Amino acid sequence: MPRAVGNSYKSLAQRARVITEAWAGQNLFCPCCMAERILPSPPNTRAVDFWCGSCSERFQLKAKSSAIVNKVVDGAYTTMLAALRSDVAPSLFLLRYNLLSWNVVDLLLVPHFALSPSSLERRRPLSATARRAGWVGCFIVLSNIPLDARIPMVQGGVPLSSACVRQRFNRLRPLKEIDAADRGWTLDVLNVVRGLRKVEFENGDVYAESRKIESLHPDNRHIRDKIRQQLQFLRDAGFIEHVERGRWRVRETIGAS
Ligand SMILES: [Zn+2]
Repeated sequence: MPRAVGNSYKSLAQRARVITEAWAGQNLFCPCCMAERILPSPPNTRAVDFWCGSCSERFQLKAKSSAIVNKVVDGAYTTMLAALRSDVAPSLFLLRYNLLSWNVVDLLLVPHFALSPSSLERRRPLSATARRAGWVGCFIVLSNIPLDARIPMVQGGVPLSSACVRQRFNRLRPLKEIDAADRGWTLDVLNVVRGLRKVEFENGDVYAESRKIESLHPDNRHIRDKIRQQLQFLRDAGFIEHVERGRWRVRETIGAS
């Protein structure tokens, strides 16, 4: 990464921010279209760091030097929830860099339409002694996002080809067409289907995991109807195909790349 751009900053956090943003501006292509570069957002654009001048896709860069773990710290819970419900959240670049060499170690892309209320975890309010007492933040829980939608762009310092990244992004695109209110369910059922690690499965296999889905949607009492409806959405979106009554086949396994 271009570490010299951070020379005039004393705080490590500020240096890391300008260095990682400079690297992203010089190196990141748009995964959503064929644009070779993405552009920095105008200053003070809330929660959006980059956008694509060709297709207008918006991105947020979250960079840190420690490993990308399951829970990623995000902003205010209610703000993020509202952004997801109105389908205006940006896609995420999760970047891990080496603090000594300032090299990019890992980079993960999560398309905005793969984020849903199920992928948010409300944090405890800040304590009464905190500067922003009572403020409630959130985590993005990666394990609640289907593996398909956690797209590696750099792995262990090795970049994946733009063709490979765009191909994985494109396979998810049908999800974008599903209404945001329903899409959370579709993603949750897709996540369960991937978790089965089976080429063929039955409705009953998904029902067996319904407790997990129920915990994400505690107010729904018709969970099996909803699961069947979402399996049909996944069929229409090309993720699975119908074999016979109540039986499905996964069209492509994910994670081999
Ligand atoms: Zn684009």
